[in-house]
Amino acid sequence: MQTQDIIQLEQQYVLQVYQRADFILDHGQGARVWDTDGREYIDCVAGIAVNALGYGDPDLLGALTEQAGRLWHTSNLYHTAPQARLARLLCETSFADRVHYANCGASANESAFKFARRFAREHGHSDKTTIVAFSNGFHGRLFGSLAATDRPKYREPFEPLMPGVRFARFNDLDSVAAAIGPDVCAVIVEPVQGEGGVHLAEPQFLAGLRRLCDQHQALLIFDEVQCGLGRTGQLWAYQGYGVTPDLLTTAKPLAGGLPMGAVLLTQRVADALHPFDHASTFAGGPLVAAVAEVLVSKVSQPAFLAQVAEKGQVLRHKLAELRSPHIKAVRGQGLLIGVELDVLAAQVVSAGQRHGLLTVGAGPTVLRLAPPLIITHAEIDAAVERLAVALTEV
Ligand code: PLP
Repeated sequence: MQTQDIIQLEQQYVLQVYQRADFILDHGQGARVWDTDGREYIDCVAGIAVNALGYGDPDLLGALTEQAGRLWHTSNLYHTAPQARLARLLCETSFADRVHYANCGASANESAFKFARRFAREHGHSDKTTIVAFSNGFHGRLFGSLAATDRPKYREPFEPLMPGVRFARFNDLDSVAAAIGPDVCAVIVEPVQGEGGVHLAEPQFLAGLRRLCDQHQALLIFDEVQCGLGRTGQLWAYQGYGVTPDLLTTAKPLAGGLPMGAVLLTQRVADALHPFDHASTFAGGPLVAAVAEVLVSKVSQPAFLAQVAEKGQVLRHKLAELRSPHIKAVRGQGLLIGVELDVLAAQVVSAGQRHGLLTVGAGPTVLRLAPPLIITHAEIDAAVERLAVALTEV
């Protein structure tokens, strides 16, 4: 089938809620992908901060094929070794005592919301149901996660959403103090906001959230769906802040590109949850869990994390050095980078694609770079060169 035939088929039969590029990706290796016409791209999107180990990682492939030949779905009616081993690994590499599996970021966040309400009720506070979320935050597109997502355009066509969410301003503790009260069961925040434009939480903001949550007996949820699992140069973004949440949600890179999410939680929270409180048919299945075990083992190595931090610094420095008149600021942590532009990011994304570079917007004027964490220095150089050319075309 020719490229145009495939695009036409998609446009005829697939629900048109996505705006896709006008080429078809066919295969990848490392941090590069090729389209069906043989054009090569340096991938600074990585499936939207998903493909942490890039394409063709032999260890992920080995775990996938080994497990696929053994058993790939059983449901949670039965124990399986990969999900038990992965839970141990996630606990040993974080603050958590327990893991609950989900299928994506939105479902991980909605699990966390249910757990927070259950926790409050278990402690005798049945009226403690409100969740505080933040300006520019993004937590997913289902009714609960969308209710906690500050995007009127995404929300309004589907209202009423889950009731009981109150918004405060990111990096503004006074606004949190005004929003939090005895009715609040949880505060959810991204330590580094991804979709909202790559904004870093200030350390005193997260420390202040911890304090306010403790004062008001509310749980602190860190949404590390985008910024967790090595992306910031720390395994978990919270570890760079020294502020520990009660629950942490993860997804995107967890199973190396297969759909999987998880909630990490303390024993204190876990004690409030009981059999049948929450469930999912697919969550934590042996195939995704076997792949995730390899991914977490690899990205949690100190040497691996150190190279993410170093390459992130190099990439941010090179972007700042570009001195393009269109670049107003470069920010980020590790390999989650936002470039604030004076033009629409979509224009630069398209121009980049024409020059063999994949990038993605994070809000109208922020260009986001979230390459595979294994991107090489030579690929970083080439990506910056291609971006420089793209910027001259807008
Ligand atoms: N939370 C954050 C911080 C995200 O960036 C995203 C997706 O971009 C989500 C949640 C939702 O994840 P998913 O698309 O897997 O439902």
